Amino acid sequence: MATITCKYTTVQIEFFTKNDVFRLACCCHDCTTALWYANKRGGPALPIHQCLDTSWFPNEFTIVTGEEKLGAFLNFENADTTRFYCTNCWSVLFADHPAYDKKVLVTQVMNYREFEGLANAELMPLQARHFVKDLSEEQLAALPAWRGDPSHVYQSAADILLAQFPAMKEAGKEGAEMNAQILLGKIGSAFIPTGEARLSEGPPTLMQQMAQAAEGSP
Ligand SMILES: [Zn+2]
Ligand SMILES: [Zn+2]
Repeated sequence: MATITCKYTTVQIEFFTKNDVFRLACCCHDCTTALWYANKRGGPALPIHQCLDTSWFPNEFTIVTGEEKLGAFLNFENADTTRFYCTNCWSVLFADHPAYDKKVLVTQVMNYREFEGLANAELMPLQARHFVKDLSEEQLAALPAWRGDPSHVYQSAADILLAQFPAMKEAGKEGAEMNAQILLGKIGSAFIPTGEARLSEGPPTLMQQMAQAAEGSP
């Protein structure tokens, strides 16, 4: 069964499956900036490219060790994504998003090179690369070549991810004993860093874009 551990294995969580329910490469500002912030707080080094391997798993897991070391943060007030991390070593472990409807969670812990954050997992091939719009020309040029279907490179949220959400939720599960929401309840609340403009000054997130679309603004 797939496990997620922090750098020093203080925190270890275990899923009930080896398989992810979706996988893509996310180039969005928020994902990389969250790791940048965690690194600034003493966490592991982040990849040089602003594009992170990203896998979704069912929202059902057991905390093998380190429950008391788990914390949560938002990049900014009303941010879409709640990120769970080890308060000892600032490894960012996994995250929740309202679009997941409590059925799945997402992890990018495999992007750390200093340790094997995700073990015993069988990951599907990357299905897309998305939020390319968040990259500067230089950042885009520096990315490794995309070897998948050329039509699966998306400026914003990947259409195939949005199309897969129902199937991902179907394949996912809201764990009765432990899940991201139960864990957040135990932690209390996600804290919001202050004085970190880089965290909050990114381009519009998925939820912000959807809100803008709903209002009919360009
Ligand atoms: Zn992202
Ligand atoms: Zn740790």
